[in-house]
Amino acid sequence: MKPAPFSYERPRDLNAALAMLAANGSAKIIAGGQSLGPMLNLRLVQPELVVDISGLAALKRAESSRDELVLGALVTHADIEDGRTPDVTRGAMRGVAANIAYRAVRNRGTIGGSLSHADPAADWVSALAALGARLTLRSLAGARTLAVEAFVVGALESALHAGEIVEAIHVPARAVSAHWGYAKSCRKTGEFAHAIGAVLVDPAAATARVVIGAIDTAPIVVTDAAELFGGRVGADYKQRFDARIADLLIAKAGINDAVRRHIHVSVLKRAVHEAAA
Ligand SMILES: Cc1cc2nc3c(=O)[nH]c(=O)nc-3n(C[C@H](O)[C@H](O)[C@H](O)COP(=O)(O)OP(=O)(O)OC[C@H]3O[C@@H](n4cnc5c(N)ncnc54)[C@H](O)[C@@H]3O)c2cc1C
Repeated sequence: MKPAPFSYERPRDLNAALAMLAANGSAKIIAGGQSLGPMLNLRLVQPELVVDISGLAALKRAESSRDELVLGALVTHADIEDGRTPDVTRGAMRGVAANIAYRAVRNRGTIGGSLSHADPAADWVSALAALGARLTLRSLAGARTLAVEAFVVGALESALHAGEIVEAIHVPARAVSAHWGYAKSCRKTGEFAHAIGAVLVDPAAATARVVIGAIDTAPIVVTDAAELFGGRVGADYKQRFDARIADLLIAKAGINDAVRRHIHVSVLKRAVHEAAA
């Protein structure tokens, strides 16, 4: 199929893009086009106007300080995979990027587009929630900041208001003592996952963030995950991982099929083991 007819604009700067979005409530942003392209072709979306932000240099920045990395929304998965952006996560983001889809998709797909699309099975949705990342959203009225877990509110549903754009993603530096584990289950390499587990465990600080993703809706994000480790996060967290609590959390999220829950729990366990390795 071909898209329904639409107008196309390629603004020269961010303010021009925001003005176009403000003036046309049904306008759609296009960044890498890896999700919007198919949706247009299938006529799942029929915007009057497509605003192509891919030329906006302000959204391509990548700057790191001691505490965080700030990535413009247009940074691609391949930029991260290839190390063209600084890394404050000690390889965690690079590993996630390298396993998103296929190289052709990674060359064009952007981190901001991936979060904005809010596909529950998208890697950044789970990985960045586990890493404690935040987004800056900008409109003509100004900017606001949201945690990733507050931004993705459901399947293909984000907290983005009309006229707003994802400007940047802020990723906190991973402490030297913090362990990272990320695992996913895909039917075929390069396909979207049907289960994702992501963990950031810091035994020295006795903290753990755990994400159970690809569950049909917004991921389960446990920001204080001691309950998954018998009530205490210590050096023995791998042995203390409690699969029954994970199963309960997934059941509470509405997954009634025991086989699916088992896959999610197993993938999460793999992430915990990877972190502890
Ligand atoms: C074959 C295939 C396999 C894939 N497999 C995976 C996978 O395994 N894991 C995974 O995580 N992803 C996967 N993807 C998705 C891909 O990685 C892209 O990240 C994703 O398509 C969105 O990025 P994009 O830049 O192409 O966004 P676009 O397609 O351009 O836009 C997607 C949506 O986000 C909006 N948008 C884009 N940028 C912004 C912004 N800055 N502010 C506000 N709204 C914005 C658009 O309006 C649109 O609604 C796959 C895609 C394909 C085609």
